[in-house]
Amino acid sequence: MQLELSAAQTAFRATIDEFARTVVAPRAVAIDETGAFPLDVVQAAARHGLLGATVPRHWGGAGLDYLSYVLAIESIARASATVAVSLTVTNSLVAEVIAHAGRARQRDTWLRRLAAGEAIGAFALSEPDAGTDAANQQTRAVKTATGFHVTGRKVWVANAEVAAVAIVFASTRPGLRGQGVTAFLVPMDAPGITRTARADSLGVRGLGCMDLEFDVDVSEEQVVGGVDQGFRLAMWALQGGRVAIAAQALGIGEAAIAEAIAYAKTRQAFGQPIANFQAIQWMLADRATELEAARMLTWKAATLKDRQERITMEASMAKLAASEAAHRAADRALQILASAGYRRGSRVERLFRDVRATEIYQGTSEAQRMIIAGALLAQQA
Ligand SMILES: Cc1cc2nc3c(=O)[nH]c(=O)nc-3n(C[C@H](O)[C@H](O)[C@H](O)COP(=O)(O)OP(=O)(O)OC[C@H]3O[C@@H](n4cnc5c(N)ncnc54)[C@H](O)[C@@H]3O)c2cc1C
Repeated sequence: MQLELSAAQTAFRATIDEFARTVVAPRAVAIDETGAFPLDVVQAAARHGLLGATVPRHWGGAGLDYLSYVLAIESIARASATVAVSLTVTNSLVAEVIAHAGRARQRDTWLRRLAAGEAIGAFALSEPDAGTDAANQQTRAVKTATGFHVTGRKVWVANAEVAAVAIVFASTRPGLRGQGVTAFLVPMDAPGITRTARADSLGVRGLGCMDLEFDVDVSEEQVVGGVDQGFRLAMWALQGGRVAIAAQALGIGEAAIAEAIAYAKTRQAFGQPIANFQAIQWMLADRATELEAARMLTWKAATLKDRQERITMEASMAKLAASEAAHRAADRALQILASAGYRRGSRVERLFRDVRATEIYQGTSEAQRMIIAGALLAQQA
């Protein structure tokens, strides 16, 4: 496998780096402090093809390969973890799902709007009792004369504060767990959807996470990917999502290392820059090496996805490695900055809070280990 970027990918990354540096980064502190969803920044990202990034051009997307998309998320995450993860939700968990499994009418209605940033997407899978055990869906979709009536509660739905459309998962055959779950494409202004609570959070603040209550009628045409096929579709979406979250984690980790290097070169102790001390150098060396290894796993998973290969294990490996490496990078950066990093409002303090979510959403680190182990054991069977 060739793990090198093409000239087009390198040029695209340079363009997104510039956008991240000039448009996204100046807003990062305010996004974190106010917790307000950065709609204008997300919409500005759409002008660079970063919503509907991998959606084919004939459906209004940017038609990018997955590796380019991942490079873009990494660049954006260096500037703002919140903006990066918001983009991954609309891209990997909504637009890609509609492009992959949607009906012609669903594609016509939503893909152009999503890609243009006129509509933001949300993915409503998690429930109070269905997190890691996502198959334990208590939201019910009961057959009616014209479609289904959906009732239930979803939690931690990112982008929900501003989303125009959500992919909502509900049990169509209670008791069958993953075999009886259906995905529905639901406009967020449909009667019977209530945004019940805004989730305040340690990091990735401003992500527009809401809890949602559903008591809503949907038609047969709103089913995505077939009745009872929703859980499989959710797992498919999360594979791409995990590669993107790996990229988000890499961006956060790199930003932390960059802060630590800059500080170590200027902070004086015992009459010299602390960068001269081997203890500091080894922290930087170990964390940079881990991030680079995780980057290779991330690029590999993205490249395999571009080749339409199965990436169940590779996506989980990338997310697990990148999120844990980035966590350690942020932790060591904080150690290198010491009190200057621990101070509320320091960049490293924000990165330290932001990075933690990458080990939780789109499957915890434990869930990734379960998936990797399951794939390994199946290979040996
Ligand atoms: C900022 C943020 C944004 C989010 N955005 C979305 C979103 O847009 N859409 C959405 O649907 N969800 C979203 N989520 C929810 C997220 O996907 C869940 O939080 C996650 O899947 C974990 O579920 P849980 O929090 O219920 O933890 P639980 O499942 O209750 O897990 C608790 C602990 O037990 C461990 N555990 C559970 N089962 C096992 C097992 N079998 N073996 C070993 N350990 C286990 C877990 O790893 C964890 O450490 C978001 C969460 C956050 C924090």
